[in-house]
Amino acid sequence: MISVNGVVKRYGNKLALDDVSLHVDRGTFVSLIGPNGAGKTTLIRILLTLMKPDKGDVQILGYNPFHNKKVLREVGYVQEIPTYPPFLSGRQILELSAKVKGIDKSEVKRVLEFVEMDSLANFPIIKYSKGLVQRIAIAEALLGNPMVLILDEPNMGIDPIFSLKTREILTKLKRKYNVTILMTSHEMEDVKKLSDTIYMLYKGKVVFKGSVEDMIRKF
Ligand code: ADP
Ligand code: ADP
Repeated sequence: MISVNGVVKRYGNKLALDDVSLHVDRGTFVSLIGPNGAGKTTLIRILLTLMKPDKGDVQILGYNPFHNKKVLREVGYVQEIPTYPPFLSGRQILELSAKVKGIDKSEVKRVLEFVEMDSLANFPIIKYSKGLVQRIAIAEALLGNPMVLILDEPNMGIDPIFSLKTREILTKLKRKYNVTILMTSHEMEDVKKLSDTIYMLYKGKVVFKGSVEDMIRKF
């Protein structure tokens, strides 16, 4: 469903990704972990076609997204702590986003219910905690019902009560809706509870790939 094959990426002399390969099978949950500077964001930016690899290629649903931009319609992306206009409500933000993406307005209601935000959706963003803002971001990524969801540090700096809810939402997406998920995270609780497979990047190289049990055994 997602496949990264021998990707190399340099920033000047700095080797950010050094022959990285990674695979996410349909309906599975893969976590990408590793210290700051390991190359996680670079890899995600390449998958989203925000930058080109120097070598190697990526495929999503069997398509190279650089050649077939349309496949990106099947990819929802949740960035780390999104910034929204503070005086718009969650619902207004989703309605705007649906409009921009050419998605029917009825989708807004569906995604708000999915993230259990329908009762709070009319408050302005400025009144939301970080955790609630993050849920709006997840709802936004789910507009149009994508087959793939990519999340960058979804629970970074979020109150544990709220991160529990995020975890529940991601579990439901995977189990009930068979969404394929790639997440970067520093939150080991999330990684342990959610992942089928974990990849660890270190200085641009994959230094570990395995299940949660494999990881616990090894580290
Ligand atoms: P991570 O997301 O794992 O923290 P990044 O992909 O952001 O890692 O960064 C990988 C490496 O590339 C780091 O050493 C970082 O300093 C470097 N890097 C990232 N972006 C740039 C950039 N725009 N210019 C130069 N170096 C960069
Ligand atoms: P057009 O709108 O230009 O007629 P097509 O629908 O014929 O486009 O497809 C153009 C290219 O996009 C083809 O190479 C096709 O294989 C590819 N393609 C079609 N559907 C998808 C999809 N869901 N995801 C990615 N690529 C697709």
